[in-house]
Order: sequence, then C-alpha cells, then structure tokens
Amino acid sequence: MYDLIVVGGGPGGYLAAERAGALGRSVLLIEQRRLGGVCLNEGCIPTKTLINAAKVFSHAKEAAQLGVVFEGARFDLPAAMAWKKKTVDALVRGVEYQMKRHKVEVVNGTGELLDRSRVRVGEAVYEGANLIIATGSSTAMLPIPGGQLEPDGGTAGGGARLVTSREILEIEELPKRLAVVGGGVIGMEFASLFSHLGCEVEVIEMLDSIVPVMDGEISRLLQKSLSEITYHLGARVEEIAPEGVRFTAADGGKRTVAADMVLMAVGRRPNLAGVGLEAAGVDFDRKGIRVNEWMQTNLPGVYAVGDVTGRSLLAHSAYRMAEVAVSSMFGEPDRMRYTAIPWVVYTIPEASGCGLTEEQAAAEGRRVKTAKLQMRANGRFIAENPSANGLCKIVVDADSDRLLGVHMLGAANSEMIFGAAAMIEAELRVKEMREIIFPHPSVSEIIRDTLWEL
Ligand code: NAD
Repeated sequence: MYDLIVVGGGPGGYLAAERAGALGRSVLLIEQRRLGGVCLNEGCIPTKTLINAAKVFSHAKEAAQLGVVFEGARFDLPAAMAWKKKTVDALVRGVEYQMKRHKVEVVNGTGELLDRSRVRVGEAVYEGANLIIATGSSTAMLPIPGGQLEPDGGTAGGGARLVTSREILEIEELPKRLAVVGGGVIGMEFASLFSHLGCEVEVIEMLDSIVPVMDGEISRLLQKSLSEITYHLGARVEEIAPEGVRFTAADGGKRTVAADMVLMAVGRRPNLAGVGLEAAGVDFDRKGIRVNEWMQTNLPGVYAVGDVTGRSLLAHSAYRMAEVAVSSMFGEPDRMRYTAIPWVVYTIPEASGCGLTEEQAAAEGRRVKTAKLQMRANGRFIAENPSANGLCKIVVDADSDRLLGVHMLGAANSEMIFGAAAMIEAELRVKEMREIIFPHPSVSEIIRDTLWEL
C-alpha cells in the first residue's frame, strides 16, 4: 500500500509526487505517455522555444536601428525544431531525476480507478491510502464537417491540413497560409509565431475580440500590434474544407479563408474518459472533476488537480493545486485561491495580467480607480524596443485602495507579472505599493510609475 498514487505525470501530477516524496511518503506515479505531460512535451515548453526563435529572428530584422547589421538572416525550421527537441528532452530528464531523487516509483501505462484506493494499470492493481487524479486536458474539436483530425494526421482529400497545437509543433515545413480557428491563448500564440516567421495568417474568432478573457483595451492593442495578421471576429465557422475554412462573417456573409494548414484552437476539455471515475464514484460533470478548496473530490482520500478540474487551465495553477492537495492530505491545511493567478499570452509582444480587469471589477459591482501608462514612458523599454509599444494598466478598489489587477502588453512583462500576484495576495494598498523600490533601469518600473498615475 502506497501513501499516495498519482494518475498523470504532467505538472500537477509530477509536482504532487515530488512534494509527497520529499515528505518521505511512498509514492507511485502513473503516466501513459512521457513524464512532463502536455506542458513539457507539447505545450508550454516547446512553444516557448519556437517563439523565442521567432523573437530572435524578428529582432535580427530590426537590429540595424540598434547598430547591429545582420545580413541574410533567415529562419531555419529544422534547426529550431532540433533545439526544441533538445530542450524538451533535457527537461523531461530533469523530471525523471526529481522522481528518482524523491524515491517516487514511476509506472508507464494508463491508470484506471477501481474504487477510492485501488488503481489498475494493465494487469497490475495498486493500492494507495490517497489518490490524486491529474489526467489533464485535450484539444476540443468542433462538431462540423472536416472538424475532426484525420487518423494519419494528413489532409482530408489532399487540401488544407487540419492540426491541433500538438501536430503543429512537429511540422517539417512552414505553412504558406495558416488559418487559425479560435483567437484565444493558443490561437494567438501560434498566429503571432507563424506571422513573425513570414507566413500569411488569418484568425477566425467567434467573439468580438481576440483573447476575450483579457482586459479589453489590452486585447485591442495586441490586435493592433499584430497587424500582419488578418482577423475575422464575430465569425461562425461552418466547415473545414479542402480549400480552407468556411464561415459566416459578422455581417452575415459567407466567406472562405484559403489555407494550406488549419489550426484548431477553440479550447481544451478535461480528460475524464477511461479514468474509472464512474466506477469509483468520483463526482464530475463535463467541465471537470468537482473539487473543494483543498482539492478534495467527493470521495475521502481522492483528490484532483490541474486541467482535469476544469478550473484555471494553466501549468502554474496545477503546480499550486498539487501542493495544496499534498499539504491537505498529509495534515498541513492549505487552501487553493484563484484570485491572484497570473497569466501570460506569449505573443510577440507578450501580454500578461493578474487579478481583475476593469470590466470584471465593475461587473462585481465594485467602485474602481484605474491608471495606465504607455510602455514608451519607460527608459529601458525604449532603449531595447525601437519600434514596439505597449501598455501597463492598474485597477484599484476605490473604497479600500487595494490593488485588484495589473494588465500589461509589451516585452518582458511575463517576468514581472508575479510581482502583481504578490501584491494582490498581500492585499497591499496603493500607499504601501508606492513604498516598494524597483530596480532602475528596468521595465518593471512601469508598474511603479503607473501607481503614481492613480
Ligand atoms: P481559449 O479558451 O483561450 O480560446 C478559445 C477561443 O476560441 C476563444 O476565444 C473562443 O471564443 C474561440 N472559439 C470557441 N469556439 C469557436 C468557434 N466555433 N469558432 C471560432 N472561435 C471559437 O482556449 P485555447 O486557446 O484553446 O487554450 C486552452 C487552454 O489552455 C486555455 O485555458 C489557456 O489558458 C491554456 N493555455 C495557456 C497558455 C498560456 O498560459 N500561455 C498557453 C496555451 C494554452
């Protein structure tokens, strides 16, 4: 009998195993593919290696303004893919090492719950005093003609190739014309990446703005910054046809975006099938496994963390949920909070935010004060970004003077948005935040300067 069995070796699963192992508990981790899950193998890490390559490429093109002349800069896709593979492999080995270091036993196979303490993997049955379900999520496909992947990953009828974020990370040749269905986080990261690599990119989005969860002003500015991309907002996609994507435009007209590759990016769904949830009696609906603030399911000793809960589908949320679950099961009460989870969209330029947007705060009936500053008000930003712009926007509760949210567009903000999370978690007021000393010259000073605009 193990102290803990974890089903799923992505960020939620492997970190839970690592933390429990570090406490001296006996842990079994079951993974059917490769340790690291979607994030490490086909999500966060591989996309960021390619996005960084695209960023270096576009910097090379504008470097002459900074006094560095590159002649004949070109993007070498096979070399970028090789670097991506090397990075991913090194990080997977890192996770394997962490498992060994904390004496976590790893089994390769598909785990299926039999009841609240037993998990079957093939012929073997394992027993644990506690279970964590961390089976993650998969790409949602549209129930429209041509909207399903071909089993061989090829093209339907020799036309546009339909791919998800998994297949597009393995392509051997750049598409000439890429149609992206869904202008959310995944859609915009890939649209930006391929647009910077010189592909013609068109985004077809159902709602009236890209990345609809973002602050409206930042979203509009991001769209404007990515001006090489063609946008079709308020569109209803009807078919993925051999020539491209057929849709009804916002004006009611029927249109087709011609493409040789179509990326499906309309959201992700929790992996609930084949986990044995019904047999074990775990409470779930189509949005995910229901959990309380300690990440407990309805069954004593059974926890769920990460995307499978359907809440905050982010690797860093999964990490925190894993820690909360492990602390709760081994007697150190901890609580999952969702109010200060930073998010980043790794477009070029990148966008990030934490806490409430002005729109969300108003919808909660709060009286808010906001302040904003253009990134070009920041010395370090101007020095390093000859042609880009951006924005920092701060939302404060007008009654308590407490920070509610920070939203940014412009280079380097993914590295500083955690500061906003810390200030929101600490429930700091404007006066207290103004007392914090920021390094100069750094792009982070934009936050301090915006606070003085309130
Ligand atoms: P998403 O929910 O961010 O975006 C999906 C988009 O598709 C939305 O804008 C939605 O309006 C649109 N859409 C839905 N149905 C449509 C239709 N029929 N036609 C056209 N548009 C349609 O989902 P995603 O981009 O697939 O990402 C999935 C999850 O993965 C998200 O929760 C995201 O936070 C997470 N993720 C995060 C990062 C990151 O943190 N940088 C990166 C990738 C993915």
